[in-house]
Amino acid sequence: MIQAPLAQRLAEGIAASGPIPLAQYMAEANAHYYATRDPIGARGDFTTAPEISQMFGELIGLWFADLWDRGDRPPVRYVEFGPGRGTLAADALRAMRKVGLEPPVHFIETSPVLRAAQAERVPDAEWHVDLVGVPDDAALLIVANEFFDALPIRQFVKTGEGWFERLVDCTSGVFHGVVGDRRFDQIVPQTLRDAPEGSILETCPAAIAVMRQLAARLHHQGGVALIADYGYRGPATGETLQAVRGHAYADPFADPGEQDLTAHVDFGTLAQEAVAEDLEIYGPVEQGPFLEALGIGPRAASLAAAAPDRAEDIDIAKRRLTGPDAMGHLFKMLAVAAPGAPEPAGF
Ligand code: SAH
Repeated sequence: MIQAPLAQRLAEGIAASGPIPLAQYMAEANAHYYATRDPIGARGDFTTAPEISQMFGELIGLWFADLWDRGDRPPVRYVEFGPGRGTLAADALRAMRKVGLEPPVHFIETSPVLRAAQAERVPDAEWHVDLVGVPDDAALLIVANEFFDALPIRQFVKTGEGWFERLVDCTSGVFHGVVGDRRFDQIVPQTLRDAPEGSILETCPAAIAVMRQLAARLHHQGGVALIADYGYRGPATGETLQAVRGHAYADPFADPGEQDLTAHVDFGTLAQEAVAEDLEIYGPVEQGPFLEALGIGPRAASLAAAAPDRAEDIDIAKRRLTGPDAMGHLFKMLAVAAPGAPEPAGF
């Protein structure tokens, strides 16, 4: 079997030292995937809310601007995790400028290809690999859309003997899951330990680490974070690991680094990290009602009035973002805010 260099490297590692944790497989696969392409849009593998319509980024920009205004207009910085093509930021910053808010822009992005795409839309941004280099002299307006779902997860499976980690093995060039031999009952929350045999628990240590860092920053310097993604209020059992390629689901163990690997985001566990820093928690609420509350209806009507020939497209985009059978139900928004910050709209 002919293998791409990443698949070959992973296979050799497994042959030498045995099966690897799913998180290691997913981290290496996604790092390669994002570093080597712009996967977003009709010709890529998947489309995201800001790419569907400018209304998404505009409403988020105005959501931040409203909080900033009601919080007596403190000095702020705009921080976006995984900005993709920079479309959300460009739309949000344009909407903010209209109401007098022009924050310095910080992008947390590892992919050189996507950094270049972001620089075309937001040339004066500053790039970082994590929050460490973002100055601590101002309140932060933090947004992450479809960022947390790309972070590597671990999976634990309940067997007759207890909970064991699912690892990735490779046989004759084909990757597949196997059950490891180390018992992990102690990391499974008490409420889930007695789950039926075959149950799967997913954890995302990288997401918890990012959330912890973000929450500490908000506690220390003020501000708010808006996290948008597909997800659930966990911890809960259930397998959500998925691969997407060319707008269709694919086998997560096929072609590492050549397709997008994601897992649903456990908003309950992320919120716990914010609670530990005394932050205020809002949501998670569904994307549909959130955007409706922020005024996507009137915004769509005004865009359609200005461009009647595009009225139908604008309406279709609005329904994709808000419809319960499209993105409106599965996608959720979680906001976490520094103690004493004004209550955000839409929750
Ligand atoms: N927010 C964008 C893009 C979502 S795709 C949109 O809504 O269109 C995921 C984004 O997260 C990409 O920009 C990807 O390069 C980035 N990313 C994934 N893993 C990352 C990591 N570990 N550190 C920083 N950025 C990461």
